[in-house]
Amino acid sequence: MNILVVEDERNLADAIVHILKDEDFNAEAVYDGPSGLAAAQSGLYDAVVLDIMLPGIDGIEVVRALRHSGNSVPVLMLTAKTSTADMVSGLDAGADDYMTKPFETPELIARLRALTRRQGDVVIDEVDFADLKLDLMTHDLSCGGRKVHLSGKEFSVMQMLMSSNARVISKQDLLSRVWGTTGGASENSVEAYVSFLRKKVAHIHSKVQITTLRMLGYRLEYFGQDDC
Ligand code: CA
Repeated sequence: MNILVVEDERNLADAIVHILKDEDFNAEAVYDGPSGLAAAQSGLYDAVVLDIMLPGIDGIEVVRALRHSGNSVPVLMLTAKTSTADMVSGLDAGADDYMTKPFETPELIARLRALTRRQGDVVIDEVDFADLKLDLMTHDLSCGGRKVHLSGKEFSVMQMLMSSNARVISKQDLLSRVWGTTGGASENSVEAYVSFLRKKVAHIHSKVQITTLRMLGYRLEYFGQDDC
């Protein structure tokens, strides 16, 4: 179970990560809104603990952007504010639950367990981007009637690119999320897999291209006529 913690108070963020790891969750923290949104979009987390007051983009905007892009990862909002207006905006924007700081550790754990269990009810079996569909069960990438199978790493790279919804993903992010930090893979591995994926995307006649942005990373771009 992978949990993303988005909280700009580093001590609190790191403490939550520590608590979650003690409870046998995998947990990682990021410390601002834009990083939180990018990480939550990656499709690699089973739930997000999201603070409301964040630098860059606040938590309410993060959850709104996630839901707008069709991402239904369970979100537990955290806030120091006790105002009910904040809670209502968070829930309205698409959060699943909320807690006010300071909170009791057992309650956080219990709520996260409930949220990640609930996720089983919402089966997301497909990610779409323009004319592409990625089947999360079979790992088939399709465009119209054409279909190609993706290998394990190709699938993970493509899932990150498609879930990020045209946002730029850095090679370093792909490397750490797809290969892990201890895998011994290099940026050359990322380039090799992106090159395989480009061939496969072209093979099924998709009008989506994986664009390289020098020094930044990759993103998907659609070069078709209509807005699909
Ligand atoms: Ca904060």
